[in-house]
Amino acid sequence: MLILPKAAQDQILAHARSGLPNEACGLLAGLAQGDEKTVLGVYCLKNLDQSPEHFSMAPEDQFKAIQEIRKKGWALLGNFHSHPSTPSRPSNEDIRLAFDPSLSYVIVSLATAEPVLKSFLISKGLAAEEAIGQ
Ligand SMILES: [Zn+2]
Repeated sequence: MLILPKAAQDQILAHARSGLPNEACGLLAGLAQGDEKTVLGVYCLKNLDQSPEHFSMAPEDQFKAIQEIRKKGWALLGNFHSHPSTPSRPSNEDIRLAFDPSLSYVIVSLATAEPVLKSFLISKGLAAEEAIGQ
């Protein structure tokens, strides 16, 4: 279960919208207890690809975020990116690039009038939806 407070969801959504027409991306950090992860910080990063179908997080942004996360005593819980015109589910590339089965992969779709935000756990080439709480 990923505890993603409303304020964090709003931050993700605002970053996704400001990145249009391209994908937007970032990192999620906070505290983990068993398989319950509570997001306390959303780090909005630059998408180096500047593409509506791909993203790569700027390495210097990532580095800075990880430093801040460590300083706060938090753990990296996952990441997020937007799908400007496709549904909220991992693409084949998203699955291929997912490197850590303990991380939450949050995808916010802006394909419909009402945005759809979902979280996934990806392991051994398979994605499973993860429950989101507030
Ligand atoms: Zn994707």
